[in-house]
Amino acid sequence: MTAAVRTTCPYCGVGCGVLAQPDGSLKGDPAHPANKGRLCAKGAALGETLSDAGRLLHPGIAGARTSWNTALDLVAARFRETIAAHGPDSVAFYVSGQCLTEDYYVANKLMKGFIGSGNIDTNSRLCMASSVAGHTRAFGADVVPGLYEDLEEADLVILVGSNLAWCHPVLHGRLQAARGERGTKLVVIDPRGTATSAGADLHLALAPGSDVALFAGLLAHLAGIGRVDQGWVAAHTTGINEALTAARETAPTLERVAALTGLSPEEIARFYAMFAATERTVTVYSQGVNQSSAGTDKVNAILNCHLATGRIGRPGMGPFSVTGQPNAMGGREVGGLANQLAAHMRFDMPGAPDRLRRFWQAPNLATRPGLKAVELFEAVLDGRVKALWIMATNPADSLPRAGRVRQALAACPFLVVSDCWETDTTRHADVILPAAGWGEKSGTVTNSERRISRQRPFRAAPGEARPDWWMLAEIGRRMGWAKDFAWESPAAVFREHAALSGFENGGSRSFDIGAMAMLSDEGYEALAPFRWPLPAGATEEGGRLFAAGGFPTPDGRARLVPTPFRGPAAMPGADYPLLLNTGRLRDQWHTMTRTGQVPRLSEHAPVPAAALSPGDAEALGAEAGGLLRLASPHGETVLRVAIDPGQRPGEVFVPMHWTDAFTSSGPVGRLVGAAVDPVSGQPELKATPVRAEAL
Ligand code: SF4
Repeated sequence: MTAAVRTTCPYCGVGCGVLAQPDGSLKGDPAHPANKGRLCAKGAALGETLSDAGRLLHPGIAGARTSWNTALDLVAARFRETIAAHGPDSVAFYVSGQCLTEDYYVANKLMKGFIGSGNIDTNSRLCMASSVAGHTRAFGADVVPGLYEDLEEADLVILVGSNLAWCHPVLHGRLQAARGERGTKLVVIDPRGTATSAGADLHLALAPGSDVALFAGLLAHLAGIGRVDQGWVAAHTTGINEALTAARETAPTLERVAALTGLSPEEIARFYAMFAATERTVTVYSQGVNQSSAGTDKVNAILNCHLATGRIGRPGMGPFSVTGQPNAMGGREVGGLANQLAAHMRFDMPGAPDRLRRFWQAPNLATRPGLKAVELFEAVLDGRVKALWIMATNPADSLPRAGRVRQALAACPFLVVSDCWETDTTRHADVILPAAGWGEKSGTVTNSERRISRQRPFRAAPGEARPDWWMLAEIGRRMGWAKDFAWESPAAVFREHAALSGFENGGSRSFDIGAMAMLSDEGYEALAPFRWPLPAGATEEGGRLFAAGGFPTPDGRARLVPTPFRGPAAMPGADYPLLLNTGRLRDQWHTMTRTGQVPRLSEHAPVPAAALSPGDAEALGAEAGGLLRLASPHGETVLRVAIDPGQRPGEVFVPMHWTDAFTSSGPVGRLVGAAVDPVSGQPELKATPVRAEAL
C-alpha cells in the first residue's frame, strides 16, 4: 500500500485531518490536532464521493464543449469589454468557503487590485459575517481568541445557536469526552430542542432572535452583583459604561428579560448564576447567532460579557465563534468578503489601501467596499452588475429568495460558473469551467481555531478539471496583467500571501507570517498544521489571544459595544402565523452535491421534512409523514411532516440541503426572506414568517 496522503476534510469548520489513499480509502489523521484521528459520518464517507460520474469534465460555452483557451479567452474578453463600457463595478465574483486560501487570494487580488472593484463576496456571508463584524467592532480585527482545548479545559460551556452535535460533530465529541472526565456543565441556548440540548445541564429554549436581551441582562446582572473585573476592564477595554447603560435599558430586571425571551425568570436566574460563579467559561456561538438581522449585536452582546469579566484568552475561557465551512476563516484572512481588503486589512484602516497598492503594484485598487451577497444578486437583477463569475457555490438554492436569485442568474448578460458538478446554478451559465475538487487540488484552509492546514491531492482530477486559482490567474494574464498573475503553483501563491501579511503590517502586528514567504516548494508540501495569528513570541500551546490585552485597535483596547435589543425583521401575523427556521442535518452538507452521492448518508433523513411541534401539528390536522404546504411572501413548497416535541409552538424547522436536483420540494431558500444585518450584511435565515397547510 502506498503511503497515505495527509489532507483536511472539506466539510465543516472543525477542519479534521484525513489520511487518504489514491483509491479513496481513508481514515482520520491521529496526528492532526483538531480531530486526533476522529471523523464524523460525513468525513468517514468522503471516499464514497470520489466517483467521476456526474463531474463536469470540460469547459463549455452555451452548453457546447470547448477548449480551455477558447473559454478563458471569452471570459477575459467579456469582463474587459464590460468594464470598458460600464466601469469596474459592473462585474463581480461570488466565491465560496469551499475555495482554498490560494484560490481566494488570487480572486481577491484580481478583483480588488487590478479590476478595481470591491465586488467580490463569498457564501461565507451566509455563515459568519456577523462574527467578523462583531469581532472587528470589539477587538479591532476579525480573530477568534481561543482554542479547541478551551472546550476541554472549561468548567462551563455555553452553546448559543449551535447544534454542535450535528454541525461540528468531532468538536462535540471532544466536549462530551471532557465532560465525562471533568464534569463540565453545559448550557444550550437554542429555540429548538436538538441532539445537542438533549445532553445539556440547562436548555434555554428562548424566543427566536432574543439572544441580545438574554446577554444584555447577563451583563447588567454581572455588574449588579459586582462580578465585573474592574482591574482588567480598566486596563484593557473601553466602552463599559455605554454598554451597561444600553444593557440596563434593554434588560433592567429578570422579569423584563423573561418577557423578551419567553424564558422563565427562574431559568434565567439559574443561567446567570452559573455564568457568574464559573471563571472557566467558554461561550460557543454559531449560525443561530450569526444568521440574523441583529447578528452583529448578538455577537457583541456575548463578547461584552466575556470582556467585562476578563474571561478571554486564558485556558478554558473565552468567546468562541465556530464557523460552518472548511475555509470560512481562510477567506477572511485574504479578503474574500466585499468589505475587507486583504491580510486582515480593511478599507477604513489608515494607510492600509496605500500599503496594499504598493505591495501588489496595483493599477486600479478598489477604493470602497463592494456589494455583499444579497445586494450583489439584486444588482445583477437590476442590471448594475453585468458580468458575474460564481465559484464553488450554488446560490440558486442557498441564497434567500432563491426564486429571485434564479431570475437574476437568468437575466445576467454574462454568467461564468466554475464548479465540480452540475447544479441549479450551472444551468444558467454562459460559460462553465470544470473545477478540480477535494482530493485533486492543493492549498491551505483555516479552521475555527485559526489552524491552517494543507489540503493535498491524492488523485488526478477527472477530464480537464483545473483548480480555481489557476483559472483566475489565467484570466488575470489574459486581461493584461501577465507578470502579476504569473504563479506556477499554489505554493507560489501562498508565499505571496505570507509576504503580504508581513509587509509593513503595522496595523496587524499579530498577523505576520512573513517568514513563510521564504517557504520552499518542499516546505509547503510538508507544511504541518499551525495556528495563525499567534501573539508575538507565543508558541502553539500558548496560542490564545488577548489574555493580557494587546487588541489590534489603535489604542490596544477592546471595545464593549452597546447592543440595544431588536427582534427579527419580520414577525408572524395573521397571514403568516408561523416562524420558519432553517439549518443543517447531521449527515448532509450544503446543497448535497457531494453528500447526496452517498446513499447511507441519506438514511438519517431520507426526505425533506418540516418539523412542527405536536400542538401545531394537531391544530393544522397534520400527521407525521403526511404532506404540508409551506408558503411565505417569497415562495412556497410541499414537504413531509415531522412531529418534533423539541420544536417551540409557533415555529417550523426545515433543513437547508435539498434542491431541485434531489426533490420536487426544491430549496427552502425559495421561502426565506432577504432581511440582512445592517452591519454585517448577513441574511436572516432563521426567522421568516410562513403559513402551513396540511394536504
Ligand atoms: Fe469533516 Fe467536520 Fe466531520 Fe470533522 S467534524 S470530519 S471537519 S464534517
